[in-house]
Amino acid sequence: AVRTRFAPSPTGFLHIGGARTALFSYAYARHHGGKFVLRIEDTDLERSTPESVKAIFDAMVWLDLDYDEGPFYQMQRMDRYKVVLASMLEAGTAYKCYCSKEELETMRAEQEARGEKPRYDRRWRPEPGKVLPEPPVGVDPVIRFRTPLTGVVGWDDMVKGRIEFSNEELDDLIIARPDGTPTYNFCVVVDDWDMGITQVIRGDDHVNNTPRQINILLALNAPLPQYGHVPMILREDGQKMSKRYDAVSVMQYEEMGILPEALLNYLARLGWGHGDDELFTREQFVEWFDTRNVSGSPSRFDLGKLKWVNAHYIKQSSVERLAGLVKPFLVASEVNVADEAMLLAAVALYKDRVETIKDLAEQVKFFFVTVAAPQELLDQHLTDAAKPWVAVLASKLSDTEWTKEAIAALMKAVVAESGLKFPQLAMPVRALVCGTTQTPSIDAVLAALPKTVVLARLAS
Ligand code: GLU
Repeated sequence: AVRTRFAPSPTGFLHIGGARTALFSYAYARHHGGKFVLRIEDTDLERSTPESVKAIFDAMVWLDLDYDEGPFYQMQRMDRYKVVLASMLEAGTAYKCYCSKEELETMRAEQEARGEKPRYDRRWRPEPGKVLPEPPVGVDPVIRFRTPLTGVVGWDDMVKGRIEFSNEELDDLIIARPDGTPTYNFCVVVDDWDMGITQVIRGDDHVNNTPRQINILLALNAPLPQYGHVPMILREDGQKMSKRYDAVSVMQYEEMGILPEALLNYLARLGWGHGDDELFTREQFVEWFDTRNVSGSPSRFDLGKLKWVNAHYIKQSSVERLAGLVKPFLVASEVNVADEAMLLAAVALYKDRVETIKDLAEQVKFFFVTVAAPQELLDQHLTDAAKPWVAVLASKLSDTEWTKEAIAALMKAVVAESGLKFPQLAMPVRALVCGTTQTPSIDAVLAALPKTVVLARLAS
């Protein structure tokens, strides 16, 4: 049975590249009716924080990427790693190395002086007939993996095709530190083995770890998973994204007013394709997902396209949901949104016209607070010809029944009486009431506002 995993290191927030790999692992498992496992790789004690663990959970909850097993924490599996380390020492697939830092530095300097690539010279690696140095007293050794000296280690990458490394390029990597704690590659191997992972889908920054991990799995007689390495997400200009300048954290997209299903749809489409389909549901994605259709080269993040996708999902969302989402944005800009009915009416009028929830908040703000129109807009539309008729309209509105139909009929009547063209009346009304002339049908907008508010703004 298929078992995939997402294995983030909790050293920051969940970034969009990580979210995309998580999504692909999730979709692969769901597509095959398998299990999706969450594992927190928290062995880097200096960089791992509980806040980051929480940030990862928050982002996964927001994206609704549900997992079937876990979260497992590597720090809680230390005993298990030690058992496997001991078994490898016992089997001779790993060995103790007592080289001090200084010795390694000298080794490196000498190799560099000879023009060689610096690498551990395997002086503590046992070989038949080789006499090893006497272990120094009081020194805690590291444990190194006994990498095969010859041959090729390769795999058919689910994304990138065949990848091979010559064992000669690999050194005897350290799998446990002097204090006995296992190193990164070793923990991953034991975890993937113990958790029965059948497909490892991860970022292609791990391609160089894979031959090492495969060699260790082989030494353990463990089954090999399939590997799929997903390329990075670059900036639109092809540069690397950076925390400083780009929105790289998943939760930054929530702050920008992106809906989670829109971000997922966009990330799924980024570097993966199913014909020309741009918009699809999670269920369709799961049904269609195949790592063979993941691009082997980096993708470029296109914020404009994400917003286009987002606009689609906003249109599809219910007014009630959007009202709930837009509220915190309004409250954050100190707008009082106590009038729930007006909020719903405002959202209904604007949901088809915005790309983000943040836009939506900006657009509907005038329902709750007076937004002054820019002077040039007033100069342009509140002409001497229009002014008296705006006043006439206001006085007629004060007596009318407050419905869209009644307001529309009234405006028509004033237009007829004045000889103005409809926009010559509607534009100044928009500017005065909404602070802008870009609005949906003005009768609907007015009807959604309290009559007193409309009259006050028309009189200003
Ligand atoms: N913890 C690694 C990372 O966050 C992922 C390791 C893996 O997927 O094998 O980059």
